[in-house]
Formats: sequence, C-alpha cells, structure tokens
Amino acid sequence: MEPVITRFPPSPTGALHIGGARTALFNWLFARSRGGKFVLRIEDTDIERSTEESVKAILDAMEWLDLNWDEGPYYQTHRLEVYREYAKKLVDSGHAYWCECRPEDLEERRKAALAEGRKPKYDGACRDKGLSEGPNRVLRFRTPQAGTTLLQDIIKGPIEFENEELDDLVILKSDGIATYNFAVVIDDITMGITHVIRGDDHVNNTPRQILIYRALGAKLPRFGHMPMIHGEDRSPLSKRHGATSVMEYKKMGVLPEALLNCLVRLGWSHGDEEIFSRDELIEKFSLENVGKSPSIFTMEKLLWLNAHYIKEKRPEDLTGLLRPFLTERNYPGKPDAFLAGAIRTLQPRAHTLVEMADAMRFYMVEQIEFEPEAAKKFLTADMAGVFSRLIGELSALSDFGEASLEPVFRNTAEDLKVKLGKIAQPVRVALTGGTKSPGLFEIMEVLGKQSVIARLQKALRYMEQ
Ligand code: GLU
Repeated sequence: MEPVITRFPPSPTGALHIGGARTALFNWLFARSRGGKFVLRIEDTDIERSTEESVKAILDAMEWLDLNWDEGPYYQTHRLEVYREYAKKLVDSGHAYWCECRPEDLEERRKAALAEGRKPKYDGACRDKGLSEGPNRVLRFRTPQAGTTLLQDIIKGPIEFENEELDDLVILKSDGIATYNFAVVIDDITMGITHVIRGDDHVNNTPRQILIYRALGAKLPRFGHMPMIHGEDRSPLSKRHGATSVMEYKKMGVLPEALLNCLVRLGWSHGDEEIFSRDELIEKFSLENVGKSPSIFTMEKLLWLNAHYIKEKRPEDLTGLLRPFLTERNYPGKPDAFLAGAIRTLQPRAHTLVEMADAMRFYMVEQIEFEPEAAKKFLTADMAGVFSRLIGELSALSDFGEASLEPVFRNTAEDLKVKLGKIAQPVRVALTGGTKSPGLFEIMEVLGKQSVIARLQKALRYMEQ
C-alpha cells in the first residue's frame, strides 16, 4: 500500500474554528491510522487578509488539541518561486496564457453577460492572442471548453462537472502571486499529498484543480469532501451559535480530549459508540465511515463529553489545568496536594474547569460568606448545642480522615437526640457558605481540622447572635 500523506492547509485569516479543527483532526487521524504523514501548510497568499496573529492562533490551537504534524508549517508566501516555475510549465505546454483584460472591462463584460442571460464567465478574449508576460497581465489556465471532469469523491461518490461551466481561471495575479486553486495543486503535488480531505465548500474548486493536475501530467490524490457542520437549528455553524473558535472552548474550561471526541463525531461514527480515546480513534478511524449528511454540533453533547473526561482524569493531572482558572479568580495559592484533594471531591459533578474553579471557592478562601437564605434557614440558635459539641469532639481528633469523622457525627446525633440529617445541612452551610457541596466528610478531610473548626466556630457565633 502506498504511504498516506495528508495535509491541513488553513488560511490564516482568523482563529481556528470548529469546522477547521474537524478538518485538521480527520486528516491527522487518517494519516495516523495508516501510519502515514500529516503536513501543515499555511495558505497565506491572500496577503491582505492573512495575519501573523492568525497564524499563531491556529498553531496554538493545533498544539492545544495535540494534533502534531510531521512536516511544516510550510508557508505559501515562501513558495512563490515554485508556483512560478510550474506556471511556466503550463505556459510552455500551452495550458496557460497571459491575459491583458483590464479588471474594469471584465466587470463590464460580466454585467453585460448577466443582462443578456449568459453565464458571466471569462469570455476568452486573450486565449489566442499569444501574449507574453507583462505589467498588469494575469496568467490564466486554459480550461477545456468541452467534455466533463469527474470527481471520484471518497465520501460523496462520483460527481461530474461540465467543463464549459468552468472559467479560464487566473493562476497568477498581476503582482505575480499564485491564486488559491493553483498554489494548492502545486503544493499538493510537490508535497506528495495522497489524500485531500476537506469541507464540501471546496467541491466546486475540485474540477478546476483536477484539470491543473491533468495539464501537468501529475497523479491525482484521492479527494474526500466532508459535509458541513450545522448548529442545533440546522443552519451552518456560525458565530450566531456561540463560540466557534477552538481556543474559546479552552477558555470555557473544555478539555482538548473532549473537544476532539466531540469533533470526531461530527460526521464520523463507529456503531453507536460515543467515547473514544485517541488510541481508539487511531485504531478505528476510516474514511468509509464518514457520513454524507451534515452533522450537528451541540453544546450539550460537548459538555457531556467534557464531564466524562474531567471525571476520568487523575486529580493530580487536573491541578495544572485548573490552576490558571484559580489564578484568574484571585484565589490564594495552595499546595498541589491540597488542590488534588479538593478536585477529587468536585470531579463527579463538574462539566467544565470553569464550573470546577467556581465550585472550588470555599476550599480556597479563608473567610467564606454565608449565603443569607441558607444561613437564616440552617444556622439557627437551636443548633448551637450541636455545634459546640462537634467543635469539642473534632478538636480532640488526631486523625481527620473520613473514617474518623463519621462516628463523631453519629455519636453527637445519638447523644443529643437529633437526626443526623438535621445536622448535615447546617454544617454544610458553615463549611461552604451554601447548601450544595460534595459529601461532608470528604470536604472536611480536604479542608483539614484547623479550618473546619474555625468555620464551625464562626457559624456558632452567628447562631448565638
Ligand atoms: N486554505 C483553504 C481553506 O482554508 C484550504 C483549501 C484546501 O483544503 O484545499 O479553506
């Protein structure tokens, strides 16, 4: 089997979005699953719209998702000479010609064609003029005017295009810079790309590209065009649907594993499985299982996956990931072991790292504030006896583990003839400020004796007021 080489060629005109990230992932996965190579190429020939900042944003996102590449990043603007060399081959073989039509004349002829109900394509005025290169001239590809071009798409099946529908497209602009359809073909040829997997917004470019391969006598890669990604309202995913850039999900506290898992299911399936580790994906991925219809991205699904991956991680591994979110909240610094203990208690419920960082508050701040409603309802004067007793008993404990804490509460409840359930909520308010938290003994063990007793004392003072 010939070695697989795939590529991801983003245009650096903005951040890496969900759609682009899925394209990158599918190409990466296909290469990895076939023991092939994955090439990263920055398509920056649109000089006006390309920015350094976007390049950096895209590379950051690729790194965050851990989609490692074997070659590149190549930059098209560093390869302009290569495109010119291939352009010359096309001129020499009669497949390209120089055109001196002025943009304003082209525009006029285009309007006239439209007005007369004709296709507004280039009328071929310079096709047979035999012009040579010169100022203000563009190089056009001589598209066959009859016949058809067949795209054998791995995902969509065969699609046939009438050549007469296609323009004599510009391959070098008057400033000498190659256009997208030309540069992409030359790159794919010279980089040995075997599979071009991209969004189906590029389907209409493909026959033009195939004709350039043919004119150069180059072997065609296999093409696979993936259906669009839609939002929940079944319209193409856009800003309207909320965050679309990959790094915004990072800021929301989504783990890269969860986003990748979510992305892979946008179009690809393996039975009814939902959760895939990286290794499983590499083992199971195939282009045959990419569907033909648009897939739907939902936040709900992403959060469900994220909760799963948060739960699965070792608390020690989450501390580093959570730290920036804690710092952002100006919480005081704490040792890793303390954080890991706190995280362990919050893992079962958190959907995002943001949610977890918010929930960490009572662990992090020295002075917690009682939620007024909760304090009024639970820190009542009749609990003062229970609290005094608990403070006494807990102060005497030398081991503050869950197993030693439980009997203290049971005995206190029995001796003072109150139901254990009646004690739990006031203690929870005392320790966390609110009425929702992980298990009491778990959080007490994490907080430690000194902090627990100080918080119970503060609550006792409140009751006695
Ligand atoms: N630079 C193109 C884009 O961002 C990629 C084209 C391709 O995959 O051939 O859409």
